Amino acid sequence: MQDYLKPMEQVLAEQGSAPEGLGEQEAAKRLVKYGSNALAEAEKEGLVKRFLKQLADPMIFILLAAAAVSGATAAYAGESFADVFIILAVVLINAVLGLMQESKAEQAIEALNKISAPTAKVMRGGHLMTVGTSDLVPGDVLVLEAGDAIGADGRLIECASLKVEEAALTGESVPVGKDTDALAGEGGRDVPLGDRRNMVYMGSTIAYGRGRAVVTATGMNTEVGKIAGALAQAEEGKTPLQRKLSQLSRALSFLVLGICAAIFVVDVVRMGGNVTGERLLRTFMVAVSLAVAAIPEGLAAVVTIVLSIGVTNMSRRGAIIRKLTAVETLGCAQVICSDKTGTLTQNVMTVVEQSGADERLLATAMALASDARLEAGQAVGEPTECALVNCAAKLGLDKGRLEEATPRVGEAPFDSMRKMMTTLHRAKDGHIAQYTKGAPDEVLKRSTFMLSGGARVELTDALRDRIMAENKRMADKALRVLCAATRDWDEMPDNLEPEALENSLCYLGLSGMIDPVRPEVGSAIVKCRTAGIRPVMITGDHRDTAVAIARELGMLQDDREAITGAQLDDIPEAELPEAVSQLRVYARVQPEHKVRIVNAWRNQGKVVAMTGDGVNDAPSIKAADIGVGMGITGTDVTKNVADMVLSDDNFATIVKAVEEGRRIYDNIRKSVQFLLASNLSEVLAIFAATLMGFIILEPAHLLWINLITDSFPALALGMEKAEDGIMKRPPRDPSEGIFAGGVGASVLLQGTLVTLITLAAYFIGHFIEAGEWAMVNSHDGTTMAFLALSMTEIFHAFNMRRVNESIFRMKHQNKFLWAAMGASLVMTTAVIYVPFLRAAFGFAHISPMEYAISMLLAISIIPMVEFEKWIRRKLAR
Ligand code: ATP
Repeated sequence: MQDYLKPMEQVLAEQGSAPEGLGEQEAAKRLVKYGSNALAEAEKEGLVKRFLKQLADPMIFILLAAAAVSGATAAYAGESFADVFIILAVVLINAVLGLMQESKAEQAIEALNKISAPTAKVMRGGHLMTVGTSDLVPGDVLVLEAGDAIGADGRLIECASLKVEEAALTGESVPVGKDTDALAGEGGRDVPLGDRRNMVYMGSTIAYGRGRAVVTATGMNTEVGKIAGALAQAEEGKTPLQRKLSQLSRALSFLVLGICAAIFVVDVVRMGGNVTGERLLRTFMVAVSLAVAAIPEGLAAVVTIVLSIGVTNMSRRGAIIRKLTAVETLGCAQVICSDKTGTLTQNVMTVVEQSGADERLLATAMALASDARLEAGQAVGEPTECALVNCAAKLGLDKGRLEEATPRVGEAPFDSMRKMMTTLHRAKDGHIAQYTKGAPDEVLKRSTFMLSGGARVELTDALRDRIMAENKRMADKALRVLCAATRDWDEMPDNLEPEALENSLCYLGLSGMIDPVRPEVGSAIVKCRTAGIRPVMITGDHRDTAVAIARELGMLQDDREAITGAQLDDIPEAELPEAVSQLRVYARVQPEHKVRIVNAWRNQGKVVAMTGDGVNDAPSIKAADIGVGMGITGTDVTKNVADMVLSDDNFATIVKAVEEGRRIYDNIRKSVQFLLASNLSEVLAIFAATLMGFIILEPAHLLWINLITDSFPALALGMEKAEDGIMKRPPRDPSEGIFAGGVGASVLLQGTLVTLITLAAYFIGHFIEAGEWAMVNSHDGTTMAFLALSMTEIFHAFNMRRVNESIFRMKHQNKFLWAAMGASLVMTTAVIYVPFLRAAFGFAHISPMEYAISMLLAISIIPMVEFEKWIRRKLAR
């Protein structure tokens, strides 16, 4: 018989469990027996397949064709196969590098997945614990709250207004109400999944209320497990920058292929009747050289590696990136909308003031209407409620004993729309006492009496005003104020809906608690200001509390910059964008206000980050450009839609992530500028030389430079530290391309300079070797051109550490760049002086003089670019 047809006691017994949950040892034993609670993962592609994928690239096809052609002619003419080997070696290295880059990125993502692995709350040995969802076993007792993702299938054993969103399983997006009663299956017939009101299923989420369930199935035995078969691997999308760059690469490839084909055809036509195999081969090789020179082979790899290293860095600093795009968008952030409690403040609450006719009754009401409990003298649970339970304990009112005397028999759980919660308790004499606690304005609206001198009196307007004044007095001191009220029932009410319970209340009093601001937030706010980012506070708390805290943090100077959710409702849609740009604090908001605020900013073209923790925050997190989830207090629902999750819930971490995002983008731009200038210089050099009738570099030489000597400095540029003023300049415009801000012009100019150096090296070598401008190809010239070009690149990489600033003003060194320089120097010198490499590359043994001249030429790129930067700084002024 199915579990939903049985009474819950029977299911618990069959699972060998109890309401207190399993013991630790039993759970461990079962984990071994049933295995990890995970869906089978889609099989990963094999190494061979991934390797072959690397080769599926038009560029590689051209290279393989070039290798085949030169192999065939070498065989025909009885020459060496050196060219073939070099090209094949480079193709191989390229594929291996590509493979490494892919697995590096994958590892980074996997590591992050581990950090943000889902967890579940369970009872084990009578204690509430948080365990990894994969460790759940049949028999575990799940503790479920609004916003939780359900980690396994289970039969409900306790329910309080529980509503579950099961769209993933049933397609029904409206949350369904749940209870614990056994279903009456007719003749043991199957009840459709959507109607099994006493079951919860893996893959659904709690929309409202509270409950407990005993796990009946884990892993592949769950309903999702049966449907899914295998978990589809989450597709890691490319970031806008990566997409733009691969478009650029593709455009360049096609352009170059077109030009090469044209050159080849023109040359063949020019040869007219005397087409010879040798000349044909020569033209073909020039065309291939051009193609190799123009296509930035290392670009995609460098960008991916820099991004994935950046993501790892950010996670170390508390910002776990869930979508790679966030890294880029963070650098553009213009507005950061943040919750107050826990993000700007510490969420460590302590009651410091009580105001009411009967202090003990007030404390009792507050403690009983809370879900926090006392464990070994210390409250555990939600910080606000812990403060209340601790406060009662200080007055000698132990929450556990209070609950024994008057057990909870019903409740209307907290939600951030009503801003209150209610519990019902059976007293000794059988009558039912109701306690409601929540935001003072809301609770007071539903109160008609108050306690005064031991008697209930009618709440007059004057009394209400007095209470609200008291509330304001506390709120102005930055205290979070909660109100408690009570109501008596002769017997248990039938209707437990909040609307039915929360009226005709009798006001008991106010509790004010402090929640100190996080010490690092003040300086993070100052940083935002200099960086052109607007911090905005959005809170469910009272306006006066919010304003007091915003002032303390330096977020707000003028009280007119703060409004409440109700006031926001009165602003017409058309005026909203104008209004939000005047506001810095929103108080007493409801989750849907957050969506309005985000959209109002976005309609002005602003890039908005928005934090959220509660179950209803998911829409605003989704609507924001950068949705930020909370690692500690956040619900699973919000974490799952967030682009970034803060492992410490701290506002300052968002600002740090923005800084890191800016640094990463800067660095990628530097690498790209560097690589493109390099490719341009190669194209120009080959092209110019060809026009003059020389072949200065072979495809193999260019491949070597592009893939080996260029990639290291490009990567090293990716590791560059943040520029000094990185948080003193306005955010980058998200629509701006990679060539914005004079980058295009710099690429052109710097590419031309490198071309001139390369050509100069060639002609000097040519002249030294031949003693005249003979129209033959010079081995010395080619060797010197190769050396000069390789080393110019590395020196130019030093230039690229700063776009406009002089590199001689920089205080710190980039050790990666020095290492790259060392590696380049050794490898380049090796291919020139190690005999068999020299032979393979077709280089000459150049003299120390020629070596020195090439080096001097290479270094000259530094003063030349310094001069360019100086002129640009002058022009900028
Ligand atoms: P933020 O939005 O900055 O996180 P918040 O915690 O005040 O601030 P909500 O959780 O939406 O936002 O709470 C809104 C209001 O509801 C609070 O200001 C408080 O008055 C009331 N409230 C919060 N928690 C409880 C609770 N556990 N029981 C009763 N009332 C509560």
